[in-house]
Amino acid sequence: MKILVTGGLGFIGSHTVVELANEGIEPIIVDNLYNSKEEVLEKLEKITGKKFNLYKYDLTEKENIERIFNENEIDAVIHFAGYKAVGESVKNPLMYYSNNLISTIKLLEVMKNHNVKNLVFSSSATVYGMQETPKYTEKMKRGDTTSPYGTTKAMIEKILEDLYASDNSWNIIILRYFNPVGAHSSGLIGEEPNGIPNNLMPYIMKVASGELETLNIFGDDYPTPDGTGIRDYIHVVDLAKGHVKALQKAPKGLNVYNLASGKGTSVLELVNTFERVNNLKINYKIVERRPGDLAEYYADPTKAYKELGWKTEKTIEDICRDAWNYEKNKMN
Ligand code: NAD
Ligand code: UDP
Repeated sequence: MKILVTGGLGFIGSHTVVELANEGIEPIIVDNLYNSKEEVLEKLEKITGKKFNLYKYDLTEKENIERIFNENEIDAVIHFAGYKAVGESVKNPLMYYSNNLISTIKLLEVMKNHNVKNLVFSSSATVYGMQETPKYTEKMKRGDTTSPYGTTKAMIEKILEDLYASDNSWNIIILRYFNPVGAHSSGLIGEEPNGIPNNLMPYIMKVASGELETLNIFGDDYPTPDGTGIRDYIHVVDLAKGHVKALQKAPKGLNVYNLASGKGTSVLELVNTFERVNNLKINYKIVERRPGDLAEYYADPTKAYKELGWKTEKTIEDICRDAWNYEKNKMN
């Protein structure tokens, strides 16, 4: 089986390439290197002992995608490529709508022309918006998104629903990720945020490495047990395995799955676990709440377990150990 992995050199894409290769599935990578480095390819080859075909193409250009489909017998596409920085999308919405929507539409057009109608799409918990209870299930309707980034995900989900309604020979799997963190246990691939990170785990990493002095914890007066925000963190290797299971096991048609652990972890719990597992101190101070943040949300992941036979295997301890192992490797 040949799978086109768009954004395959990025954080989640690269880990998925490893898991596909481990299952004897052939990944073909397309990435324009906007948010990744070509050297990730060598790391992937080192981890798996396999060679991969890389197309350094921009997916907003249809002729590029055509070329890939003309040169390869592709069975399915896992579509990771896109911009993902929430804050940047607020400052530059057109850049986000343009890249995320145009690349997806062009990709779908080429897939349709080549009669390749199997797609896995990277969506996000952000499409739920704020719900009445913090445990999000796929039965809930999409809520109001709070950033242009989130809106691109909701819009693409809608585009995929419309496409499926027009032609139900498509098999479309929408995966809603909660908070992907951690790194491959080899320490060779991991998350590479640009500039000062916005997300918690990459920020903790910069404080641990001494690049940044203090972690700002955004509020300790939320209605949660320790007052800090609660999220559902998922190890990126578990997430990657979820994609392989989705390809292998999802029923025909259009299906939506939460990929998450189902457990909420607070900011302080994550910081404390990181300190304990890695025997380090993280300087932190409590500051104002971050505008737009929800106090608490986590997933109900039972649909993925029942239908795909997938659940997370790694713990918050594994996440903290592997993330720091990757960071330390980079420093050496
Ligand atoms: P990433 O930035 O590490 O990877 C995305 C890759 O896509 C990058 O390597 C980038 O160079 C490439 N890319 C972007 N635009 C492209 C284009 N027009 N043509 C070709 N390549 C292009 O991001 P990630 O964390 O691996 O996320 C993968 C997907 O999962 C994204 O769609 C993201 O929105 C979604 N997602 C991520 C998270 C998260 O927290 N990381 C959470 C929910 C959903
Ligand atoms: N957070 C924090 N300090 C930071 C970054 C994040 O206290 O520097 C908190 C944030 O308020 C939230 C949790 O950590 O409660 C996860 O934030 P992140 O941005 O990683 O994910 P998201 O909020 O998008 O789910």
